[in-house]
Amino acid sequence: MTFGFEVIRTDAGARRGLLTTPHGRVQTPAFMPVGTQGTVKALTHRQLEEAGADIILANTYHLSMRPGDALIARRGGLHRFGGWRRPLLTDSGGYQVFSLADRRRVREDGVEFRSHLDGSLHVLTPESAVDIQARLGSDISMVLDECLPYPATHGQARASIDLTARWARRARDRFLALRDGFAGGPPVPLTTPDQAQFGIVQGGVFADLRRASAEATRAVGFEGYAIGGLSVGEPAEVMYEVVEAIAPALPADRPRYLMGVGTPADLVEAVARGIDLFDCVMPTRNARNGQLFTRTGRLNIKNAAYVEDDRPPDEGCGCYTCRTHSRAYLRHLFVAGEITAAVLNSLHNIQFYLDTMRGIRDAIEFGRFESFRQSVRQIWSRSLSS
Ligand SMILES: [Zn+2]
Repeated sequence: MTFGFEVIRTDAGARRGLLTTPHGRVQTPAFMPVGTQGTVKALTHRQLEEAGADIILANTYHLSMRPGDALIARRGGLHRFGGWRRPLLTDSGGYQVFSLADRRRVREDGVEFRSHLDGSLHVLTPESAVDIQARLGSDISMVLDECLPYPATHGQARASIDLTARWARRARDRFLALRDGFAGGPPVPLTTPDQAQFGIVQGGVFADLRRASAEATRAVGFEGYAIGGLSVGEPAEVMYEVVEAIAPALPADRPRYLMGVGTPADLVEAVARGIDLFDCVMPTRNARNGQLFTRTGRLNIKNAAYVEDDRPPDEGCGCYTCRTHSRAYLRHLFVAGEITAAVLNSLHNIQFYLDTMRGIRDAIEFGRFESFRQSVRQIWSRSLSS
């Protein structure tokens, strides 16, 4: 299968779509569980498939540092190496490198950084980020962009979108050269030949810079477009405003991906503004901290109120955890520090996120997205303030 995207139906600003990739189809709007090291923490691939995950994300930085993208390419790419058969998106590695703070330096040609594992010196360039992702063989690769900390000044953000635009051009040139077989230098194995590449719009919270970045990214031309640099500490309303300003500036016939977002309320609010793809560590990270997402709001399993509570964590959920275990038992596992607590909590939270996306898709298909959005908003605004 070759890469493609089709909007099947719209309901107000929300889009119901179908993304086709070399490793299968993705119903959108979709949530991508985060598999940092080539695995979603505490879950097996089978559990993810059963929960209905069409696509997962893997982190280029971590995999290139360990076990190394060359090793993974020799094992036939990340799908074959890791045994994941469905679509896979890789980030550029930039986000992790930029978060190394004092261990990295931004240059025109790329970012120089020291590995968090052994302190060795590396340079990640727009071209090397393309090459690493070609070796990993993801279905969707991301361009290297500069990730600014929040808050940034208008001047900093201006310089940053200009650098990101120059990097985007170089990343696209390298991607096309590899795909069309005229790249110079040592050969880079394309373990997934029909890999797609997404550009990334930056610009902080400044509407004029976001528009300029969207225009520059669109001018390069990609199979899909992402909005980066949000959910980094700005208020939710500001994030929604930025998404609302950017989404219409992106090509209507290409998928739109909001990176690193977010809460259930963020998902519906971004879908309402035309976003198709999401990823976030929140469901799995919170699960490991004992925080469950449920149809009535957040539930903190370590709370003493659940010590003898025989109810499942979420009475409306059909996941294995909710069908099998009580809050009392899950609380016991968490308090005792059992690794099963991480497994069962992660299973539920991922199921909750994927069910939320399914609810969103059904609502768009039946033309009742606005009422679905209101119901989610009610639950999560109440839950967040309590
Ligand atoms: Zn459940």
